Amino acid sequence: MKIMWHQGQQFIPDVTTVTIPGEFRGRPVISTAKVNEDLLVDLCPTKAISASPFCIDLGKCTFCGECAIQCPEKISFTKDYKISSNERSRLIIREGEDHPILINPELVRQEIRRIFGGSLKLRQVSAGGDNSCEMELNATNNVNFDMSRFGIDFVASPRHADGIVITGPITVNMAEPLEKCYRAVPNPKIIILAGTDAISGGIFTDSPALNREFLKKNTIDLYVPGNPIHPLTFINGVLSLLKKK
Ligand code: SF4
Repeated sequence: MKIMWHQGQQFIPDVTTVTIPGEFRGRPVISTAKVNEDLLVDLCPTKAISASPFCIDLGKCTFCGECAIQCPEKISFTKDYKISSNERSRLIIREGEDHPILINPELVRQEIRRIFGGSLKLRQVSAGGDNSCEMELNATNNVNFDMSRFGIDFVASPRHADGIVITGPITVNMAEPLEKCYRAVPNPKIIILAGTDAISGGIFTDSPALNREFLKKNTIDLYVPGNPIHPLTFINGVLSLLKKK
């Protein structure tokens, strides 16, 4: 009783509008203030920042926050957790922009909403992940976020799944198991990349231990940035893809 009283109400009634309490780094905003941009470009550990035009690629950003700490007049992080998109270029935040990141409806395959609109079963593949994104994906179905209420679940076998969620930068050792897992999923099927490592390789981008050929051969249906991803980012991204409220 004491623990229940202490925890209060954990269930989030509306995961599409809830505000994240405490500190959180979501979608960044870049001001037009004149600063030493080269300094920020050099400072970024994953080359997520580019100059001319000045922008941040959320597919590469680890959300370490160092750029905002060093140059708060230029870069700040909002609490906007809806940063997923099905178009890779929409993850690039440009100087002076302050608008939500959205799904491009023209890129959503027709069968996704027609077949998976009522129920979507996903198989998670940790392709060299560090267990951070995996833990957050696990949290999507806990009592707080309760993703199952939308008919979206993780399943144990790819043969029971409608698609795969890839975490980790895809190591050489995981390239073949990933391929086999994807082949075992019946058609039609979707691919979701969860986390910076999966989207771009993150801090491992130039490592010879990676084999990211899989991503060149297949169409990606959703990019979920974060390092690790936040459960609300994942849930809202999938809901937008399926066009569910
Ligand atoms: S928060 Fe992102 S853009 Fe800024 S320094 Fe860290 S990785 Fe680079």
